[in-house]
Amino acid sequence: MKRAIFPGSFDPITLGHYDIIKRGITLFDELIIAIGINSEKKYMFSQEERKRFITEAFQDEEKVKVMTYSGLTIDFCKKMKANYILRGLRNAGDFEFEKAIAHTNRKLSELETVFLLTSSGLSYISSSIVRDVIRNGGDVSSLVPPTVHVDL
Ligand code: ADP
Repeated sequence: MKRAIFPGSFDPITLGHYDIIKRGITLFDELIIAIGINSEKKYMFSQEERKRFITEAFQDEEKVKVMTYSGLTIDFCKKMKANYILRGLRNAGDFEFEKAIAHTNRKLSELETVFLLTSSGLSYISSSIVRDVIRNGGDVSSLVPPTVHVDL
């Protein structure tokens, strides 16, 4: 059984994440979307909201599970018996950042990190830009799946 974890903050899930998940499920038997919970970080959307947006977006995909976790991603992988970490790459900045994390995870565990390049046309989308548009009263419906509900 090839089980992978796709870790992230997903605050909120964007069409960029959605694309990586859709393509990731063709590579693995099971893909766990792991929403990181860091008590020191301030999120725009609660843990429950972030989870609900993703669960509803993939309710017809049997291979997709959505969970929350805190602590090290490699420890969560061990707990869930997952051998792969899936991550998306948008640009050179992502690459440098992800490279250091993947090397560290590889040093501390046997886990392999699998990278998918963003589909062209989605690489500019980030949760932080989506949050900025929301904060300023803009319409984010072209940037996020329709299951993301914003109550302003
Ligand atoms: P984190 O806080 O761990 O960066 P994010 O929720 O921002 O969490 O991102 C989770 C993963 O999704 C990362 O691998 C990130 O590179 C990827 N990702 C984010 N936005 C996009 C996008 N537009 N296209 C492809 N991958 C993306």
